[in-house]
Amino acid sequence: MTDHRRIRVLWPDHLALARGKYLPTHLAHRGTRHSMSVFALLYDRDMIPAPGTRMLEGFPDMECTIDTSAIRDGWEEGVGVVVGDLVSDGAPVSFAPRNALREAVAAWEALGYTPKIGIEFEAFVLQRDDEGGWEPYDCPGSYVYGTGPMSDPMGIAEAIHDVADAVGFRLESVNGEFDSAQFEFTLEYDDAMAAADEAFLFRAMARDVAYEMGHLLTFLPRPLLDRGGSGMHINLSLVDADGNNALLDPAAADGLSDLAHRCIAGQLHHLSAMGALCAPTVNSYKRLRPGQISGYWANWGHDHRCATVRVNPERDGSTRLENRMPDASAPIHTVVAAVLTAARLGLEHRLDCPGPETGDAIEEACTDRFVADGLGGALAALAGDDVFADAIGRGLVDQFTAIKEAELGKYLEAVGDEASARDEFTDWEKAFYLPYL
Ligand code: GLU
Ligand code: MG
Repeated sequence: MTDHRRIRVLWPDHLALARGKYLPTHLAHRGTRHSMSVFALLYDRDMIPAPGTRMLEGFPDMECTIDTSAIRDGWEEGVGVVVGDLVSDGAPVSFAPRNALREAVAAWEALGYTPKIGIEFEAFVLQRDDEGGWEPYDCPGSYVYGTGPMSDPMGIAEAIHDVADAVGFRLESVNGEFDSAQFEFTLEYDDAMAAADEAFLFRAMARDVAYEMGHLLTFLPRPLLDRGGSGMHINLSLVDADGNNALLDPAAADGLSDLAHRCIAGQLHHLSAMGALCAPTVNSYKRLRPGQISGYWANWGHDHRCATVRVNPERDGSTRLENRMPDASAPIHTVVAAVLTAARLGLEHRLDCPGPETGDAIEEACTDRFVADGLGGALAALAGDDVFADAIGRGLVDQFTAIKEAELGKYLEAVGDEASARDEFTDWEKAFYLPYL
């Protein structure tokens, strides 16, 4: 690590934004302060008095504390970066995504397991059009699993990869995704908090690097309706006290433990409610459609990309449960907390796991249960799932729901209803989301 001339302190908010401040290095140990009522904000800077955000009490401060030993080299020359924690009156801010994840991890640790998480991002690169807007990055010779200049003529993904290597992000792979101008960035797995922090910083870095090159890297789930969507797949495994992968059972016909089956069952049982936290924009439901290999059905399968929970074929330390429903318009720490919580509920409530998907699951699946058909439905599902909401934390659910209901209300005012604008990327989404996501 080099000497830093300043420290960029970042923390994840409820809108999947990286907020924070620059601090001089010699003052970084003191942390910083922000108005707690940031959690009352929508993307357009409107505020609503969401529960707990104290907007009607004078927008008071919360503290952002940092662990100076966690400062790492940032991607701006000579600037360190660190993820902060939010505290108010000596207690963790309940709706701060990082605090929710800490609780979700602690609940697994109390059961004797360490959750491990691997995160895969997909994103589109956009370039300036003649009107000062954004159009898809021009890469006519690209194809799925493409590499090199035919996939990435201006070297945007390559530059992101180079910076990631230079500052120590642990990327497992980078490649062209299915559609032209779409890329996949896969990070190595780690302890849940470390993986979420790394992904959170990677996402901020990748957008900064692309933007400095005059391009917009968007993690919006479905910004181009003539192309597929972009997911943020969350791979979960659990390590027991002896350091072994607890998803394995060599004696079982499918090689998976009872714990693995319960974790799958929990994620499928709570799928619709999870959607409100893991696919939390109106745009998310333009991606979560049948035939999009994107985690639509309440199903799971062995190496099956049309299953929401996909189990990889290897039976070793890498055996994991990949939840393909989330997208990166959601706060990453909240998404990981939701996956850990739903999986844990499957274990604690001894939920029965249905059989694996046996069909193609493209337009039809072995189940007729699927995610909500829009953000409104997902919020209703979350409101109706007390078990899940209590387990992930009422503080977070109540604040997040209030914000997202207001966001949805604005969208409905603009377009009428969610169903009618399902097949278009509306001007409203372009203005409300695209600059930020
Ligand atoms: N793009 C798909 C999604 O929206 C996933 C494609 C893949 O299997 O990587 O989740
Ligand atoms: Mg992919």
